[in-house]
Amino acid sequence: MKSGGSRYGIHRVIEPQGVLPQPARILDNDMAEIWDNEMKIDVIRLNIDSASFYQIKNKLINKGSKNLDKDFADHIIDLTTRTGKHKNEDTGSGGMLIGRVAEIGPAFEMKHQVKQGDIIATLVSLSLTPLKVYKVNKVYLDKDQADIDGEAILFSSGVYAKLPDDFNENTALSVLDVAGAPPQVERLVNANDNVVIIGAHGKSGILCNTIAKEKAGKDGRVIGIVRKDTYIDVCKQTGCDDVIIADATDAISIHEQVRKLTEGKMADVVINCVNTENTEMSAILACKDRGAIYFFSMATSFTKAALGAEGIGADVNMIIGNGYAHNHAKFSLDLLRRNQKLRDIFTSRYS
Ligand code: NAP
Repeated sequence: MKSGGSRYGIHRVIEPQGVLPQPARILDNDMAEIWDNEMKIDVIRLNIDSASFYQIKNKLINKGSKNLDKDFADHIIDLTTRTGKHKNEDTGSGGMLIGRVAEIGPAFEMKHQVKQGDIIATLVSLSLTPLKVYKVNKVYLDKDQADIDGEAILFSSGVYAKLPDDFNENTALSVLDVAGAPPQVERLVNANDNVVIIGAHGKSGILCNTIAKEKAGKDGRVIGIVRKDTYIDVCKQTGCDDVIIADATDAISIHEQVRKLTEGKMADVVINCVNTENTEMSAILACKDRGAIYFFSMATSFTKAALGAEGIGADVNMIIGNGYAHNHAKFSLDLLRRNQKLRDIFTSRYS
């Protein structure tokens, strides 16, 4: 077993040298021998980040794919073979995985007790996780997931969660993928706030609706923004008081509709949960002066948000969607545990 590796996994960086594993282009995914501060995982299922999955799917469709499942599977093999990880080369985002603990190096920093054979979810991005994929068994085009035979490495600094006994594996995987969002919403929203959730029907969207309503309370108002009227029911069942039907790129229409619903006050907090580009200005224009915007979306452009706000003189606090908060896995699973409707929706969609 090799020793002397970095807790952040710098020893696995092949190119360019001198950077951390996330920004690196190529990682060493040799699984024959692990370092003494690593954990090796036999991967069961990948949960690919929604912005990444959507982008790859569209790229393949635009190339004329006739067999999307197979072409997606080939894309996974090609990307991980070339770069040693599943970091989308266009969006830069990753995802996470579940698998069985295969080997634990003696110097690995154990955050929770796990042993060989336990099923865990990695709570660090696939964009920095050394991953070798031997075979893709099934691609779930409607769930952003893929069953694979493969191996992955968790670095010593990496966070992980043992899968809970009271959840179906795939439901837990889906919750844990976006587990960073609810605790951040909990911190940002206060009683009586007007809250706008853009992308309120998606996986992170319905979690954010629920926690936003819990915090805003009966005198607060949660406004969901979705682009299909068939989404209204789920939004209302998960906490939205009102639902605006609009394309999230249509900043002017969204501004106008939020203005009407809030009687000119606009949103105290805006949460952006979409998986597509060019929605920064809608979030900014929905937000009140000195309000807060949490850009959970990985399709957010820092440049568009910063220059767009400056360009219209919007003094708003913009927060990058950190996917990590202390105890975020338990926090998000507990949200489903105390909200049966939310749990039923998650189970029917993702189990
Ligand atoms: P999801 O379940 O796919 O939901 C995305 C939602 O956005 C869908 O309901 C989609 O609606 C909606 N949407 C997309 N474009 C829209 C538009 N132009 N107008 C209105 N609605 C639109 O995705 P998710 O898993 O919740 O992830 C949401 C975002 O968070 C993604 O960008 C993902 O990459 C990011 N993410 C961030 C972190 C982090 O650590 N910060 C972690 C995980 C995920 P349709 O059904 O109509 O397409």
